[in-house]
Amino acid sequence: MRALVKTNAAPGLTLRDEPRPTPGPGEVLIRPHKVSICGTDLHIHNWDAWAAKTVPVPNIIGHEFVGRVEQVGEGVTLVKPGDRVSGEGHVVCGVCRNCRAGREHLCIDTKGVGVNRAGCFADALVIPEHNVYPLPDNLPDEIASILDPLGNAVHTALSFDLAGEDVLITGAGPIGLMSAAICRHVGARHVVVTDLNEGRLKLAETMGASRGVRADADLRAVMGELGMREGFDVGLEMSGAPAALDAMIGTMNHGGHIGLLGIFARDVTLDLNRAIFKGLQIKGIYGREMFDTWHKAVAMLQSGLDVSPVITHRLPFEKFQSGFDALNAGDACKVILEM
Ligand code: NAD
Ligand code: ZN
Repeated sequence: MRALVKTNAAPGLTLRDEPRPTPGPGEVLIRPHKVSICGTDLHIHNWDAWAAKTVPVPNIIGHEFVGRVEQVGEGVTLVKPGDRVSGEGHVVCGVCRNCRAGREHLCIDTKGVGVNRAGCFADALVIPEHNVYPLPDNLPDEIASILDPLGNAVHTALSFDLAGEDVLITGAGPIGLMSAAICRHVGARHVVVTDLNEGRLKLAETMGASRGVRADADLRAVMGELGMREGFDVGLEMSGAPAALDAMIGTMNHGGHIGLLGIFARDVTLDLNRAIFKGLQIKGIYGREMFDTWHKAVAMLQSGLDVSPVITHRLPFEKFQSGFDALNAGDACKVILEM
């Protein structure tokens, strides 16, 4: 089968022939028909410090997909061959305290599809039945292929009470943009999105942001224009930029809530006393709640949430390199590869 492989510890990816896996007991073999490139895949492609210490080589990469079940292992009852599915990319241990308490997103031994185990940028993917997410017929394929990052946005945004609140989102990548649409969908008042990329800021305004603001602009002035006197009630950090978190802490209202999703590439030095004196609550977010986040994401899509503007590129699988290049150049947001 065709597979996009990180063959050795260096930048780049290789499209090559790999043996087709077989599903063991409790496992499902899926044939992906659309896959989507995540920022994580870009880190692996570019082979940065995080990738070098995390990803074993060789490994088939990718974890965002929609596909059809082709074969099921012994004992599988959730799905049958032909069913259209997506899947959760975090494979959890099932036996740690959090897993047994039903908090699988907090598993202490999570393995990542396409990170520490074989991924979906291939003609076949094997994952545990537990990770398979059967799809309703009325969900378009393209949207189904980005449920994983949409889930990151849903998990982060819906961690907080948003109705009538003023929200600051730092980072207008696909996840920040989808979060803006979610905040609007559930009734936030002002949604301000910051980034350094003008194209992405325009996209933020088409996806429901009150304002898309350059990260180096005066946020207090923007708050004044919007009639916000005190500060943001909710902050969603989705850039991984220390400067963005600093600006966020500086503009939060007292008692505000911050969700940290963006992954910082290096250690961060901040004046945290401001968080203490403001009584801020800060929550780290990893992945998606299994499977309540998936349920809420699909339910919101079915009740009018539109995240389709984040999809900027559609390419045949063989043209994968153009997709990675467009992402590295900052020209693309979500790139879908058609298998
Ligand atoms: P992305 O890299 O496409 O988007 C990040 C955006 O932040 C970019 O548009 C960039 O221009 C912008 N940015 C850079 N510096 C900024 C600054 N100072 N102020 C405001 N914006 C700034 O990433 P994405 O795919 O949307 O993911 C968002 C973040 O979440 C990334 O850091 C990613 O690694 C992380 N992530 C975390 C999880 C998790 O489970 N915690 C899962 C997926 C992604
Ligand atoms: Zn566990």
